[in-house]
Amino acid sequence: MTCAHILGFPRIGLRREMKQAVEAYWNGDIDRAELQRTGTGLRRRHWQLQQDTGLDFIPVGDFSWYDHVLDTTALLGAVPPRFEHPGGEVDLDTYFRMARGRAPTGSPQPACEMTKWFDTNYHYLVPELHPDMAFAVSSAKLFDELAEARAIVGDKARPVLLGPLSWLWLGKCQGETFDKLTLLDRLLPVYGEILQRLQTQGAAWVQIDEPILALDLPTAWRAAFSRAYHTLQVPGLKLLLASYFGPLADNLRTACDLPVAGLHVDAVRAAGELNLVADWLPAHKVLSVGIIDGRNIWRTDLDRALEILEPLRQRRGDALWVAPSCSLLHVPVDLAVESKLDGELKSWLAFAVQKIEETVTLKRALSEGRDAVAEVLETSRRALASRRKSARVTRPEVRERLQNLPADQRANPYPVRRQAQRARLQLPLLPTTTIGSFPQTPEIRRTRRAFKNGDIGEAEYVDFMRRQIAFVVEKQEGYGLDVLVHGEPERNDMVEYFGEQLDGFAFTENGWVQSYGSRCVKPPIIYGDVARPRAMTVDWITYAQSLTTRPMKGMLTGPVTMLQWSFVRDDQPRRDTCLQIALALRDEVLDLEQAGIGVIQIDEPALREGLPLRRGDWDAYLDWAVRSFRIAAAGVRDETQIHTHMCYAEFNDIIEHIAALDADVITIETSRSKMELLDAFADFEYPNEIGPGVYDIHSPNIPTVEEMVALLEKAAEKIPVARLWVNPDCGLKTRRWPEVDEALTRMVAAARLLRERY
Ligand code: GLN
Ligand code: ZN
Repeated sequence: MTCAHILGFPRIGLRREMKQAVEAYWNGDIDRAELQRTGTGLRRRHWQLQQDTGLDFIPVGDFSWYDHVLDTTALLGAVPPRFEHPGGEVDLDTYFRMARGRAPTGSPQPACEMTKWFDTNYHYLVPELHPDMAFAVSSAKLFDELAEARAIVGDKARPVLLGPLSWLWLGKCQGETFDKLTLLDRLLPVYGEILQRLQTQGAAWVQIDEPILALDLPTAWRAAFSRAYHTLQVPGLKLLLASYFGPLADNLRTACDLPVAGLHVDAVRAAGELNLVADWLPAHKVLSVGIIDGRNIWRTDLDRALEILEPLRQRRGDALWVAPSCSLLHVPVDLAVESKLDGELKSWLAFAVQKIEETVTLKRALSEGRDAVAEVLETSRRALASRRKSARVTRPEVRERLQNLPADQRANPYPVRRQAQRARLQLPLLPTTTIGSFPQTPEIRRTRRAFKNGDIGEAEYVDFMRRQIAFVVEKQEGYGLDVLVHGEPERNDMVEYFGEQLDGFAFTENGWVQSYGSRCVKPPIIYGDVARPRAMTVDWITYAQSLTTRPMKGMLTGPVTMLQWSFVRDDQPRRDTCLQIALALRDEVLDLEQAGIGVIQIDEPALREGLPLRRGDWDAYLDWAVRSFRIAAAGVRDETQIHTHMCYAEFNDIIEHIAALDADVITIETSRSKMELLDAFADFEYPNEIGPGVYDIHSPNIPTVEEMVALLEKAAEKIPVARLWVNPDCGLKTRRWPEVDEALTRMVAAARLLRERY
């Protein structure tokens, strides 16, 4: 039988129940039993829904309390030594300590490093590898959940595992670098044991995700795939090997030849490769075609999908399965609860639940014929036609500006600008600043919500926000910071805030997607040409500047980040959409300058994550990404200082492009890596100013003055001190005021101590 299935379902819950429960548990407001009850409820609801919609297999183990890579790490017993895990079951508290940074005694320990999951905006916790580590099955979570799922959906329950090679690849050597592949032989018996246990519990299929098959792999790694999967043979158990996020390319033959019962491929991002896979994959193996876009929210062109699938079905018969391209983790849960989107726009979209329906429709069309689903196909056809024709999508004046792009170069090079900026800003050595946001208290969130719901009027709202801004300005003067910010109280999210004020963007009420742990984002939907009807930030920033004689930093989100963190239209190249946003931001930058703001930060935390997975595609992307930033920034005068900010990124391989942004100052996240990330800038002799973060804002731990001094001394060995800034790793919106008071007071003290020394 042709099967309809998915690789994973969003775990956060339609109303972010997972987030609420986890955070309540961390705060001690609910106990573990209650947390577990929330988890059980969510899983049950999701499984039931998938079964009711008609999926033939239902993933189990896609649920997670924080991150599925961390789940795998716990399952393998690979707890870093500093968490003092005695061996045996990795309990939930140990698990959360790894994510959040704490020893069992409660004393601070650095949390596990966090980084982007491939080219998504999901973050995983990096496995820590050392040459003499041992592995053992150490978590019952997957087995418990399988038992739970079997009680509800029976044999449809299909466990999901992150494969051994991808887990290793995503891990990071601790201390001296060594060949991570040497750990494979120790890992495989544990995977073998896991598979055996799943089979004993009644699983007929296990889905093993090996997304690294979409990457450029060294030959040794490619070869290791055969070795690994020949070892992972359990009688009576079939493996579905899942690859996604891109073409298999030079890994195609390896993937097709592996001794597994089925192969899932991403037929959205690797559409051109599908027939080749069908040629190479032996006929007795299941080919799972990921034809529904798991990374975006557009309704699928079902006719086109069927044109691709039907010939494959002819060739492969029942061994052809239909699925979304990747786990639905990356899309919101259900379009049905969106009551504010207009009907036309809504008809163009599909969220996780709708994608499951589309998957089932395709399956039915294949096995029963198109007539069996004629009505559904017709609805889909009409929606697509309306999107294609809509006047909301195309705006001639935006098109025209795109044809005549302005200069993307500042009038003078950095050394000249530096003089002008020094004269204007009068900053001390090692100037101190923050990245933008200050704690978003419940009161702030409540007020924003009240305004949005119409419960309070604009005057009351503006008054409240102004008082917040005044409060934050006063705080910063109290700490003794040099370049101040307004604190971003009016922003729920750095992309949504701007998108809401730009034409061409649409917003959902509940379109949440997990970013990391309990943090979720609600990406805007870019459906049409982008334009800025009016200034977006000028009133807030000039008000903040009016309260202080110190420089106030205007705060914008960069074009690439707006693009990366949105659901982007799929009817024109991403480049064009990005340039349209850049033009809108350029106007905002110039308005800020015009209003007397001397420092403007354009955040681009997502620049690196936008890199294509394959090297061969990098240059084309970097070309338009850097260009977009420069178009946004380059219109200002010499004495206007442009900052940019990026978080958790490796910079080595793109450092020349970072330099090409030509921001006067870049602030980066470095504290967790103990300034290692600065090496790229040092080796490149990065010419402009840098603020390496000295305060890890992702952890509740507050660094001491000595720790920050030590980090800065380390930074000063790498970068001339005259070009260093002192700042936290990122915005402070998730922290609490007492922590921020303490941390920033200490940070300023550290900077002052060092000023005396240099
Ligand atoms: N200005 C933003 C803030 O401080 C930057 C956030 C980010 O880089 N992710 O919140
Ligand atoms: Zn950041």
